[in-house]
Amino acid sequence: MLFVRNTTLPDGRTGIDVLADSGRIKAIGPNLPVPEGAEVIEAQGLLLSPPFVDAHFHMDATLSYGLPRVNASGTLLEGIALWGELKPQLTQEALVERALQYCDWAVAKGLLAIRSHVDVCDDRLLAVEALLHVKQVVAPWLDLQLVAFPQDGVLRSPGALANLKRALDMGVDVVGGIPHFERTMTDGAESVRILCELAAERGLRVDMHCDESDDPLSRHIETLAFHTQRLGLQGRVTGSHLTSMHSMDNYYVSKLLPLMREAGVHAIANPLINITLQGRHDSYPKRRGMTRVPELMAAGINVAFGHDCVMDPWYSLGSGDMLEVAQMGLHVAQMTSQAQMRTCFDAVTVNGAKILGLEGYGLEVGCHADFVLLQARDAIEAIRLRATRLLVVRRGEVIARSPATASALQLPGRPVSVDWALRR
Ligand SMILES: [Zn+2]
Repeated sequence: MLFVRNTTLPDGRTGIDVLADSGRIKAIGPNLPVPEGAEVIEAQGLLLSPPFVDAHFHMDATLSYGLPRVNASGTLLEGIALWGELKPQLTQEALVERALQYCDWAVAKGLLAIRSHVDVCDDRLLAVEALLHVKQVVAPWLDLQLVAFPQDGVLRSPGALANLKRALDMGVDVVGGIPHFERTMTDGAESVRILCELAAERGLRVDMHCDESDDPLSRHIETLAFHTQRLGLQGRVTGSHLTSMHSMDNYYVSKLLPLMREAGVHAIANPLINITLQGRHDSYPKRRGMTRVPELMAAGINVAFGHDCVMDPWYSLGSGDMLEVAQMGLHVAQMTSQAQMRTCFDAVTVNGAKILGLEGYGLEVGCHADFVLLQARDAIEAIRLRATRLLVVRRGEVIARSPATASALQLPGRPVSVDWALRR
């Protein structure tokens, strides 16, 4: 049994105790009695969050930066070409090793659920095999959900549809797609139809790279919402990126958002990647390119932020820190009100959990005893400081621990020292 005393929750409640027993949250509330034999952690009013969730990642490409060369132009299309050069050289051992290394980083950062796309446009399906193996290995610590992702286009790339189906047969969880990369807008729409029908047949979720361009006339999200509704897939379908929405006509967006809401389509923005890859064809003014996050949220659409890439052909930086992602999302979307900043914290926790459909996620009685104690007093401060993860707890067990840092966080009357230790 683990007892965490005096925490602050992301919703602002303070003085909350949490009791974990047999892997689940048994009690949560103020002034709880400490059961005999429980390990007690004094949280001293600091923030206790459910684990971070990355709703959009590419674990098959991660930590491959510089292999076989770096992306000179920094564009999405060179990134895709570069990944194509790297693919024939991939080995299963190297894929597994890099993915496991990334999972170590993730756990240390309290990131305990990741939806990763895995490229199925390689007849050997090496990456699929590798990540299915990694998923099993890391399962005690981290929920890894896999998306069958036809990087080169399910219609454009020969054999991609058959490979995608094989990947699903092998145990990949979610149907992916990339309609804006198909040869024509018509092919893109057709790919959305085929893939949504495949998901409906198999009872799976859908998550497509959708309209990841600056083209104001890209319309695949409309098609995705249409087929979601037609096939009864409400709540199970996600449009990732949706960057073209940044550039769309405002009148058209005013029609589109209610359609997305009606279809229960989720949206994922990838702030670090969108702000670096979009607007590359612009001189000045230069578009930001990230999708319309506050407007989507105001329309009642669930929006999460994804990390997308860490040190790969598309992005040379990143660290598995979802607070870095939230901070960038906040800036790019100019979500600077108190309420909006808190929403950015939700976008890397609860909103992502909804998209993945995680069972037992959250800080309520009966949920898995999975949580992160942060060296911050609230969610906004956590984003500001990219706060140290003092403790990462999975199923009631402490699986990672960091010493507190001397930082901009100064608790009133209680300066933080570098050797601040958790009292037992
Ligand atoms: Zn992606």
